[in-house]
Amino acid sequence: MAIAPATPKSWYLPTKPHKFCPGCGHGIVLKALGENIDELGIQNDIIFGCDIGCSLLAWDFFACDSTQTHHGRVTPVMVGLKRSRPELLTVGYMGDGGGYSIGSQHLLNAAVRNETITLILVNNTNYGMTGGQMSPTTLPGQVTETTPLGRDTAITGYPTKGPEFLSTLTSDGAYIARATVSKYKQLKRFMRNALRNQIEGNGFSFLEVLATCPTNWRTNAQQTWNFLEDEIEKEFRVGEMKTPFGKGDKEVAVD
Ligand code: SF4
Repeated sequence: MAIAPATPKSWYLPTKPHKFCPGCGHGIVLKALGENIDELGIQNDIIFGCDIGCSLLAWDFFACDSTQTHHGRVTPVMVGLKRSRPELLTVGYMGDGGGYSIGSQHLLNAAVRNETITLILVNNTNYGMTGGQMSPTTLPGQVTETTPLGRDTAITGYPTKGPEFLSTLTSDGAYIARATVSKYKQLKRFMRNALRNQIEGNGFSFLEVLATCPTNWRTNAQQTWNFLEDEIEKEFRVGEMKTPFGKGDKEVAVD
């Protein structure tokens, strides 16, 4: 049994084994979040909330206060917590189903109101936990359990581009970006900016992360990374779309 370090850290891998499928992107996203929490020293100031779907498996990943919500409701719960305890940092974690489908109205309204919360949305182009059905971000032509002939955009429309859309809704002070698990240093930097934006009280912060789901993609290791880098990253542009920290993919110093 692993012994926790004398100085507790929010992210201590031996006591928090990976609960996701082999090759799943969630573990990479959560590692980036955990490392940022510890490096920023905000372990005791944060409330971590996770939504339904595979993202809920993160509910006990961190040694910090956490809550688990259902069916797209992590955004309003984070808003409520922040409004009642503005000195705390609230971080909501969700999938593309929770954020862009059943919880989309909450996401849009929180963005319009420039709520000072941080939201992280993992986009793996399908409903993971329920077996791989089409989600709002499924690629055109992508085969899923509910699109066995490939997603037909004439019937279902085109994939949701969350960061692009939210960029048009938010006011100055918002931080909006998209990262990918294939570029870890950039992912960690963008996540740090999304946290720092709330720490500084600037406004709404949203980070979408492109991630792998080999179980439902039915892919081996090589095919998984090829699909992420050759297909998904071409459909969804990676980068910072709105930032109060200045243009460009720059390192932001942390005090
Ligand atoms: S179903 Fe997909 S998203 Fe869910 S844990 Fe497995 S690989 Fe990850």
